This record gives sequence, C-alpha cells and structure tokens, in this order.
Amino acid sequence: MPATTCFSPEIETMERSDLDSLIDERVRYTVQYAAEHSPFYRRWFKENRIQPGEIRVHEDLLSLPLISGKTIREHQPPVTKNFEFLSTDWSNIFSIQETSGTSGTPKGFFLTWDDWKRYAEKYARSFVSQGFTQKDRIVVCASYGMNVGANTMTIAAQRIGMGIIPIGKCSFDSRILKNYRPTSIVGSVFKLIHLGRRLRAEGVKPAEIAIDKLVAGGESFAEESRKYLADQWGCPVYNTYGSTEGTMCGECTELAGLHVPEDIVHLDVYDPRMQGFVRDGDCGRGILTTLLPPGGKSGMLLLNYDTEDTTLVISRGRCRCGRTHMRIHTPQREAETAWIFGNALGRVDVEAGVFQPENMEYITGEYEAFIYDGESPDEVVFHISVECMDPDRCDRKLVENQLIGRFLKYKPGLASQYHDGKLKISINFTGPGGLELHNQKGRPKRLIDRRKRA
Ligand SMILES: [Zn+2]
Repeated sequence: MPATTCFSPEIETMERSDLDSLIDERVRYTVQYAAEHSPFYRRWFKENRIQPGEIRVHEDLLSLPLISGKTIREHQPPVTKNFEFLSTDWSNIFSIQETSGTSGTPKGFFLTWDDWKRYAEKYARSFVSQGFTQKDRIVVCASYGMNVGANTMTIAAQRIGMGIIPIGKCSFDSRILKNYRPTSIVGSVFKLIHLGRRLRAEGVKPAEIAIDKLVAGGESFAEESRKYLADQWGCPVYNTYGSTEGTMCGECTELAGLHVPEDIVHLDVYDPRMQGFVRDGDCGRGILTTLLPPGGKSGMLLLNYDTEDTTLVISRGRCRCGRTHMRIHTPQREAETAWIFGNALGRVDVEAGVFQPENMEYITGEYEAFIYDGESPDEVVFHISVECMDPDRCDRKLVENQLIGRFLKYKPGLASQYHDGKLKISINFTGPGGLELHNQKGRPKRLIDRRKRA
C-alpha cells in the first residue's frame, strides 16, 4: 500500500468489512433518528408499513421507496404548513440553504452546525486527496449563497489550514493571481477555460502565477475538455461533484473515479426503466442516503433520495491512493440526456466531439445542441452550434469531420441511423458571443430537445 496522506486516515483507509459494519451501524441509527424526529419520515414509514427497526443493514435500504426533489417540495410550504423534512428543533438550526431551483421551487435545506462539520469533512478529504496542504491558497469561484458549495469549501479550507480567496465568481482581475499567488482555483470547466484564455490575451505568463492544480465542479464534462483545460494551464484538473442535498465526491490524484465518503453518505445506483437497483458497473441514477454517526443530530436527512444524476460504481476495492471508499464514474445530470432512436445521448457526448484537439485551433469550446423533428415522421435533425474564434478563418470541414466522427464513434446505434439518412446532423458556426446560450441566465443549457413528436 502506498504512503497515503488522508484528512481522516483511519476512516478513509478502513478495511471493507469494517467499513461495511460502520455503515450498517449508521444506517440503523439514521433510520431511527429520521422516524423519531421528522414528521415526514414518521408518516412515510407508517404508510409504507415499514418498522424502522427492520432496517438493519444498508442492503435493507433497497426495499424502501425512493424520495425525490418533488417529494421534498410536496412537504414544504406552500404545499404543507410546515417543513415536514425538518428533523430537529428550529433553535438547533445553524443555517437555512436552498437548492438553485433550476428545476422548480427551491427546496429548503436545514443544517445544524454538526451537519456543516460533516459537509466540510467531505470537502476536506477531497482537497487533501488532491494534494492540498496548509501551503495552498485557493480561489473559490463557486458562488457564496443559498447553496452550500462555496461555504463548505471555505470551512474545509480552515480545517486543512489552507488559505482562501473568496471571490465567488471566475471573472476576476489577473492581479489576484499575480499579487496573492494562489496555488489553485475551483470553478466550472468552462469558466476556467475562459479565464485561461483571458490571461493569455492579457499577456500573463505562466511564471507570473503559481497555480499548480485546478478543481473543476458544478457540472460534468468530457475527458477531452478536461485535457484541453489541463494543457491550457499546464497542471492537473481534479473533478468534484457536490450538491446541497449532501453528495460530495472528489477525484484523488490517481484520477481513478470519484471517491464517495461512504461513512457520511451512502450511495446506491437505481435504474428507473428496470425499476430496480443495479449491480456495480451498471449505469443508473445515484440514490443517496445521509448517514449520521450514533448520537449525531441533523437538520434534515434524506433516505433513498433520487439525485436524478446518472453514474456507476467503478470499484469498492482499494484505490492506488490507499483509500478504500468506493469510486464512482462522474455523475451526469439526467436532464442533460436525450433519447434518439432508443439511444441515450448526453450533453457530454457532444462536448467530447467539440473538444477534439484539432478543433481547438479554430473554436472556443463553447457549444450548444438542439434536437428537432425531421421532415418525415421517422427523421430526426441534430443541430450543433459551435463558437469560432474567427468565423472567417475557421476550417469548417475539419471541425465538422472531427466533431461528427468522434460523436458517432461511441454511438454505433446513432451511426447506423446517420448512415441511413434518418439522423441528420448539421453544424452551425458562429462568431464570439453568437450562441443562444450567451443570452441565458444561470447555468447554460447546452443540449435542448425541441421535438414536438414524442
Ligand atoms: Zn484514490
């Protein structure tokens, strides 16, 4: 086993059998806590004829129904008088958070200080697994607000002893990098690509800044765009996945999947089409369950919560980094997946085609894709727009061949429809700022299904 630096070494490198026992003990306590403290769960167990005491081990969670974002919204004002998921007295609540609300009314989340400490523990483990120490100084581009991300990173940084530059956005002046010499930036891949390009345009030289690793989060991305970003900055890029609901996973320096902090959050994978949980290695939706240590208190917990993000378990074995906590594939938002002729098509599949290295001499990496009905009922039109650095000097044929070639290579089902003429793909080239998404507020939607025929 290689020498490992872990934030919580004993728990992060625990043997699988011990880890499973610890998880089962926490499952029992958490289920009991939920039944005793939250009006929602009290009724939920009763309505589903489940005795909380029957849930003994994590496998027993599979027999419980799923909870979704919709369930939470249906049990909070204005639908119900009280927040029925709330699982402690208001006087114990340290902060009230909300999800962004991109998919409906924001969901209220209640955190005790103990909850914050557990959230920060997850980020601290992730940062340390990416090589962060007290020598590091990190620029946080994630926004400080009703979601937990930026604040959790800040508390985690304090636990590690590293410095924080809480800018809350990526559009900052390059003097921040030159004067304060941060060693890392956490932001979304696209924001970091923009920043890198702006620094180059301003003539900032790599030697003038001290960035030696980047942390990407906020949305999933293709390996191709990660590679482009890593080359642009000349340093590794580590992926993280977090949400206000309580998931927080991160890649270690081995880049072998995202470690799930299994003692704090339990993750199962569910296939809605099969209506069942899947085996390791099979793809499905991430279903999470908050885990509390015996005696722990929580403002709000989730049992069998459907994240609506798709993922798969890569391994529960020991990672080369020494950690034993399971590793998962980068979760992708199911809302960013469309189905064409029975084939799943993700936003990241398009992105992989856009970021082909040869293309990046001509295009910025910004893209958006639309699916339309074709002229005849069995025809589908897939329209991809890419932003050129200079539309007059773009080798359009090359970009088109690279993009469509990469896209169809891993989509054999769509490739045959394309060659039969039923799937038409058209590439549109715009100048800087010419994409529709530049006029949108918030997180850009890059894959939009505009078909009227189902
Ligand atoms: Zn690892």
